[in-house]
Amino acid sequence: MLDSLRSSLQVALDKLKGAGAVDEKLIDETVKQVEKALLLADVSLQLVASLSSEIKDRAKKEEPPPGYTKKDLVLKLIFDELVALMGGNSPHPIKPKKGLETKIMLVGIEGSGKTTTAAKLALYYKNNGYSVGLISLDNYRLGAADQLQQLAAKINIPFYANPSIPIKKAFEEGMTKVREAGAKLVLIDTAGRHKDEVGLMKEIEEVAAFTRPDQVILVIDANLGQTAASQAASFSSKVKVGSIIITKMDGSGKGGGALSAVAYLKVPVAFIGVGEALEDLEEFDAKSFVSRLLGMGDLRALVNSMQIAEQEEQESLERIASGHMTLDDMLEQIKAFKKMGRLSKILDTLPIGGIKLDDVAKEQGEEKMKKWEVIIQSMNRKEREDPSLVDSQRIKRIAKGSGTRPEDVKDLIRQYDLLKKTMKNARRNKRLASLLGGARWK
Ligand code: GDP
Ligand code: MG
Repeated sequence: MLDSLRSSLQVALDKLKGAGAVDEKLIDETVKQVEKALLLADVSLQLVASLSSEIKDRAKKEEPPPGYTKKDLVLKLIFDELVALMGGNSPHPIKPKKGLETKIMLVGIEGSGKTTTAAKLALYYKNNGYSVGLISLDNYRLGAADQLQQLAAKINIPFYANPSIPIKKAFEEGMTKVREAGAKLVLIDTAGRHKDEVGLMKEIEEVAAFTRPDQVILVIDANLGQTAASQAASFSSKVKVGSIIITKMDGSGKGGGALSAVAYLKVPVAFIGVGEALEDLEEFDAKSFVSRLLGMGDLRALVNSMQIAEQEEQESLERIASGHMTLDDMLEQIKAFKKMGRLSKILDTLPIGGIKLDDVAKEQGEEKMKKWEVIIQSMNRKEREDPSLVDSQRIKRIAKGSGTRPEDVKDLIRQYDLLKKTMKNARRNKRLASLLGGARWK
């Protein structure tokens, strides 16, 4: 699937993964290679340009969450932006209510795979418990109705077509017939050829006016180059396109044209066609698609775990800002600071004097950090969340449990109290609030 795009993207990422430290030059090089790969695959120049500037901007602005490297971050950004290019994380666009009559109309130019896809969809929804019916309104191409009739018979789906009467009439009769057969989900195949494009678009508009579909699916061939986007634009200027199916993803097509059309129309890809057989239809999920494209099963795991880490850090910062800091939060922030100086950046902007986290962190060597960690591990959950519970009795117990001295435990509690007080003062500071709610955390 999209073999050449896949291999050139993988070359770019392999270089990044194999490199030592990540600096701006390496990021630029990687992004340039990603750009080249996308352009060669026929993704439009405009989309490529905005994707790469987005990656570069974010790479400059964002910090990896604790425990991750800049390299992880750049990989994630490339992943994120490719997912966005492919329609993002929208929920699956075609989930008709069972038992309710739903009409879905397929549009697209001749040869894009509408008729085949109509039958594939019929089988897919039948297998998912729907009562499906098929109607062909392609009276333009000879044999189009026969083609769908044969496919419908193969999978035992009620079917109607009548090329000898006007399509509006054929549609009305078809609806009566498939309803009689018990169909609720009605799939309508249309013509893709006409005297000229203007004629075709006019017909599509007329057909939509009397079929009144609940959803229009635009079918696009993965082999189509840059013209895919303008074609998609013509269709969507006449009918409201609700989702896209990209066909022939099994072939050697570059795919970028179809993907550009997706990005321009901003409608989700519902399925992809991956072969001529009626079973060759896959539900489309942008995230899994991109991880396959990048050839990294583990990339998705990395992205997920980074999102969780970001989320946890956000929650921890919110707790700190609201004055409900736990010992775990403190430890995490000090460790994070040691890596990248995140919280201290916030503290540095505060006009309050006294202690700053970077002072704390600078003072505390690795040794102490490790000691604090084992001390905290020897506390129960309640004590970690509310260290004021820790009296001298408990201090003895915790010191013993962690193999440290009572003074070490006291020192930790003292630092905590100091920091908490600072944060409480800081809480009144609006600037902190805006920083914590600022774009980098979104
Ligand atoms: P229509 O003119 O838009 O109705 O297109 P058809 O459904 O008649 O399909 C045109 C050709 O593309 C046929 O030979 C199909 O078998 C083929 N085709 C459709 N979808 C796929 C697909 O996902 N993969 C492959 N390899 N061929 C497909
Ligand atoms: Mg057809």
